[in-house]
Amino acid sequence: MEMEQLCSLLRDLDALKQHPDDLTSTIDRMRERLVAMMNPAAGAASRSKIKDMSAEVVDNNPYSRLMALQRMGVVENYERIRDYSVAIVGIGGVGSVAAEMLTRCGIGRLLLYDYDTVELANMNRLFFRPEQVGMTKTDAAVQTLSGINPDVVLESYSLNITTVKGFETFLASLKAQSSHERSTGVNLVLSCVDNYEARMVVNQACNELGQTWMESGVSEDAVSGHIQLLVPGETACFACAPPLVVASGVDERTLKREGVCAASLPTTMGVVAGLLVQNALKYLLNFGQVSRYLGYNSLKDYFPAMEMRPNPQCSNPACVLRQKEYMESKPARDAAAKTKMEAEASTENECPVHLDNEWNISVVDDETETSSIRNTPDILPEGLVRELPDADSYAGPAAPVSSSAIDDDDDLEELQRQLDALNAS
Ligand SMILES: [Zn+2]
Repeated sequence: MEMEQLCSLLRDLDALKQHPDDLTSTIDRMRERLVAMMNPAAGAASRSKIKDMSAEVVDNNPYSRLMALQRMGVVENYERIRDYSVAIVGIGGVGSVAAEMLTRCGIGRLLLYDYDTVELANMNRLFFRPEQVGMTKTDAAVQTLSGINPDVVLESYSLNITTVKGFETFLASLKAQSSHERSTGVNLVLSCVDNYEARMVVNQACNELGQTWMESGVSEDAVSGHIQLLVPGETACFACAPPLVVASGVDERTLKREGVCAASLPTTMGVVAGLLVQNALKYLLNFGQVSRYLGYNSLKDYFPAMEMRPNPQCSNPACVLRQKEYMESKPARDAAAKTKMEAEASTENECPVHLDNEWNISVVDDETETSSIRNTPDILPEGLVRELPDADSYAGPAAPVSSSAIDDDDDLEELQRQLDALNAS
């Protein structure tokens, strides 16, 4: 592993010679590699890289439980996760936990952005450790994450995206490694920042690049949070529906009073990080329903969900441009959806997902099960006998009531007589 890191350092040095313009970013990258090499966790106890994800059920396979998702029919191709790159902006209470989850899931590449350093005041949350105090959050994250899963390519950017230079580096890093001119090199951006200004910067970058992203947030009183999916042109962007503070013309920065400390709980942060990464996995690996907006109120265990359409009068010009493109591509999108539906309808057959499995679990379709119970009421497990007659066949001991009997005008009297007879018996 160290040899690989040294080779990467050499490559970085060569790159520096060839492209002296990228001085800062290359030096940062080299620094991260050194930090990773200095990581004590990366010593004897850490594992070497694994070339292919295996589904083999053995104790020393870090991916067996993840690959089982495929065997269980949840995910079609789990190993595709290795092809994906995710950028996480803000490595705080939510971002650090999200980064750890994605690392443990075996994501291909993680880009981490933060300008802050680890403090003792962060220890009420998950992920960072007291011995990391003073390190930049990105350095500390690379240290921990590279020890957990060396297969993940980690890129850390210790910068402030709200500065002009920081924004340029942020954009360039998202675009690096892209295969097409009009696409970024990442599949998803997760915003885990704690202020409005940084969210607007992520929004600006993603609108410009047409990059799908997910927003997350935890309230200042630490008891509620939310996640939101933002697809430029298709859903509302962050500027389409500004939060109430902005709509009412108050500068958010003035709200952060000196000496007032926001509360935070590891529980709420963990829940929000879990919701965020769950949604990211569903989006990337194409399973389940991807949430558009999901809120979390811990005091009432309330999870509001909603969908927000883009605002045609959005103040962000890049958003309006993406909306126009989205509308123009509608006919092509509809045609593709129709073709897909037809193809699915023709190949649909009802064979079991697994003909055989080592756990002897059999999955039965809910409907089939219900109907089989309904149609065969007499079948009981061995050794059981019914004490009461079946509801459908029960006709009453003395006075059978047929539906035709209550068509008459006298049916009420007749019913009363039958009831009296029943009560008397
Ligand atoms: Zn917008």
